[in-house]
Amino acid sequence: MEKLDVMKLWDYLHSIPELGFKEFKTAAFLANELEKLGYKVTRNVGGTGVIGELSGTEEGPTIMLRADMDALPFVIDGKDEVIHACGHDAHCAMVLAAAAILADKIKRGKLLILFQPGEETLKGALAVIATGLMDKVDIAMGLHIRPIQDIPNGTMTPAICHGASTFAQVKILGKGCHGSRPHLGVNACDAVAAVINAVNAIKLNPVLAWSCKVTNIKAGGAAPNIIPDKAALVLDCRAQTNEVMTEMLDKLKMAITNAAASVGATATLDTPDGVIPAANLDPELTAEVAECIKEVVGENNLQPNLLNPGGDDFHYYAQHNPKLKAVFFGVGCAAEPGLHDSSMHFNHDMMPLGTEVLVKMLVKKLG
Ligand SMILES: [Zn+2]
Ligand SMILES: [Zn+2]
Repeated sequence: MEKLDVMKLWDYLHSIPELGFKEFKTAAFLANELEKLGYKVTRNVGGTGVIGELSGTEEGPTIMLRADMDALPFVIDGKDEVIHACGHDAHCAMVLAAAAILADKIKRGKLLILFQPGEETLKGALAVIATGLMDKVDIAMGLHIRPIQDIPNGTMTPAICHGASTFAQVKILGKGCHGSRPHLGVNACDAVAAVINAVNAIKLNPVLAWSCKVTNIKAGGAAPNIIPDKAALVLDCRAQTNEVMTEMLDKLKMAITNAAASVGATATLDTPDGVIPAANLDPELTAEVAECIKEVVGENNLQPNLLNPGGDDFHYYAQHNPKLKAVFFGVGCAAEPGLHDSSMHFNHDMMPLGTEVLVKMLVKKLG
C-alpha cells in the first residue's frame, strides 16, 4: 500500500478552505481518498461529515479517529475571506495519511475515520452524534495542533484538558412606572446592580480554574423618565471540570434569583446554546498515547497534560456516551501568531510525526 504524502495533502486542503457545514469540496476529496484506500465510506454524515470504516477479522474495540474539516471566516481589507487559521487542514491531512498507512494493518475490531463538519460552530459533533452512527464507538481519538503559547515546537502533550464553557442569559422582570413615583414600580436597573454584585460574590473551589462574569447589560428604554420594567444580562462562564460548571450554574441561579427578589423583581437564568463540556479524557489511554509520543519524538519532548481555557466540540462524544473513552493529544508546531489569526502559520515538519503517533496508537489497539 502506497502511503499518502501528508505535506501534499495539507497543500491541497489548505487551498480549499470552507466554512462549517459547507465543507463540500473538502468532504468530497476526503471521501474519495478513503474509498481509494479500501474504506467503506458514508457521506453527508450530520451534514457534510464523512465516515470511513475498516473492519478487522477478529473481535476487538471500535475506535473512532476524528479530524475536524472547517476553516474560519475573516474580513480582510473589506473582503470576506475563508482561511484555515485553526489548523483543521493539518488535522485532516494527518488523519488521512494515518488512514492510508492503517489500510492494511487492521486485524481486530473496527476503525472509523470521522471527518467532522462545523467544529468552529460548536454544532458539528452534535450533528454527528444525532445520526446515531457514533453510538457503538468504544474509543474516540482526536488531536489538535498547538500554538507557540502552549507548548514548544517539536513537543507533544498527551492530553489537551479543555474547560467547560457557556454563555448564560439572565432575564429580569420588574414593574414600570413614572420616574417621579419610583415607589410604585420595581426598577429593573436596581435588580441589575444587585445581580452583578451577587454574581461577583460566587465562590467555588479555588484549586480548580473557574470564572463567571457579566459581559453584556441591556436595560431601560428611550425615555429617561420611565422606571424600566425589564433588563437582560449575558454572563460568560468557564470551569475546569463539568462538575464545577454544574455547581457554578446552580449557585448562579440561586444568587441571581435572590438578588433580584431583594428589590422586588424576578429573574431567570438560561443557557440556550447549552454548555460545551470540559474534556473528560481517559487516564489509561492518555498514558498509552504518551508512550507513543515518547517513541516518536523522544521522552524529552513529551509535555505534561495541558490545561487549556479554550474548548473543542470533540468532548461532546464522551459526554453523550458515558461508556466511550476519549483521548485528545496536542502537537506542538509553533503555530504563530496564534490560532484563529488570519496569518497563522506553523512548522509543517510536525505533521508526519503527528501521523506516526496516530498510527502507533491504532496499531497497538487494532493491529
Ligand atoms: Zn478553532
Ligand atoms: Zn480548532
